Amino acid sequence: MSLLLATVKANTIIQSLQIRYPSEINIREISMECGAYVRERKIDGAEAWLVRKGTKGIITVNSGIQEPGRKCFAIAHELGHFELHSDSQLVVCSNEDMYAWNRSKEQEIEANEFASCILMPEVIFSRYIKKEAPNMVRVSELSGEFGTTLTATAIRYVQLSPESCAVAVSKDCILKWYKKSDSFSFHLKVGEKLSPDTYAFDSFDGSELPAKRRSVPATAWIAGVIDPDGEIIEHSIALKSYGVVLSLLWIDKEIRYRFKERDEEEPEFDLTDKFTSDGKRWQW
Ligand SMILES: [Zn+2]
Repeated sequence: MSLLLATVKANTIIQSLQIRYPSEINIREISMECGAYVRERKIDGAEAWLVRKGTKGIITVNSGIQEPGRKCFAIAHELGHFELHSDSQLVVCSNEDMYAWNRSKEQEIEANEFASCILMPEVIFSRYIKKEAPNMVRVSELSGEFGTTLTATAIRYVQLSPESCAVAVSKDCILKWYKKSDSFSFHLKVGEKLSPDTYAFDSFDGSELPAKRRSVPATAWIAGVIDPDGEIIEHSIALKSYGVVLSLLWIDKEIRYRFKERDEEEPEFDLTDKFTSDGKRWQW
């Protein structure tokens, strides 16, 4: 799998088209420039597909997708297949593929990485990440600036943030998957029922979420034996149409593993057995 190739390909296209601002990122025009025509059709059971004919391609996106950001991501995902997987003549992608981080679906992960990089190029997106405490309000603003979904934007935000932060997606009161920044050195309790100490739990319990970020016990989110007094900042938002809660987590004060004081090594967490039952960490 080559996520680096996906990133380089996307960056090369952005540079060659001399795109410098979010308003210039028009995925349909970019696709045309790359040789892939975009059209919309009513599709049952798929988000989009790509048909390759020689050096040209046709991307068909489901006209039934209501959210513009989701439609753009689907087009960008297919463009990723067009640019990266030249041996595929026909690719049909489901909604789950658009958000798959399953290791057995390498080409889908690559297409998703390409989509993220071309819709939110690092050189542009990084300029818009202010030096401030991570919060969902900023993620929402960036989502508007770049015309991307809140979830895709939150993932890109933590991916490029210098802060120690992560974004977690929960459904049916279960933590389904998360993505984190390089400096976020912990793992979250994937596959487990949410702790009642989290605000995300309260949302599934019918409560309104606080508009601002709040501190919660770090043990509520973080796997492993950590300092029981440690705190983590949570800013959750409910995506009601998907039945999902998106949580931005930020560590503003050091949290230590309990036994680290005895100079023992931090435990290694193997998340492969922490995936959701169908093997996906990344789904609505
Ligand atoms: Zn795909």
